[in-house]
Amino acid sequence: MGIAVEADGDAGNAMALPCAALEGTRCSIYAHRPGACRAFECRLLTSAGRGEIGVEQALALIADTRKRIDGVRRQIAALGQADDRLPLRERYADAVALAAETPADTTSRRRRRTLEATMAEITRILEAEFLSRHGANASSTWPGTPPLRE
Ligand code: SF4
Repeated sequence: MGIAVEADGDAGNAMALPCAALEGTRCSIYAHRPGACRAFECRLLTSAGRGEIGVEQALALIADTRKRIDGVRRQIAALGQADDRLPLRERYADAVALAAETPADTTSRRRRRTLEATMAEITRILEAEFLSRHGANASSTWPGTPPLRE
């Protein structure tokens, strides 16, 4: 199917992200997606299915989170990391590392602080609202964000 798989230490194999089958916000191989994708239900979907959150509220949360992620992408690009094929967390780590290598002026320091705060908030939202609390994904966490270095 053309989906890259990488060794993931003791956890076995993992799909390389962003997934090659993802087109915009849709899976281009949805009917034939891997079993792990079929089994995964994010926390928000589970909550909506249980009636713990309304569909409109869930859609608003998705839209807000996507807007925040678009914002962090722009902030990352402003710090010189322009490879949008990489997963967001890798781009963030690269952007912070690039910023640390560059003499810090007031603007770049402010950008780094803004990026760090935005990424921390996105991480909190993803962990609290989207990452699964059931089954094989129960222990999933969004990887920690690297600290800002002065
Ligand atoms: S559902 Fe699975 S195969 Fe489809 S885009 Fe998402 S990660 Fe890729």
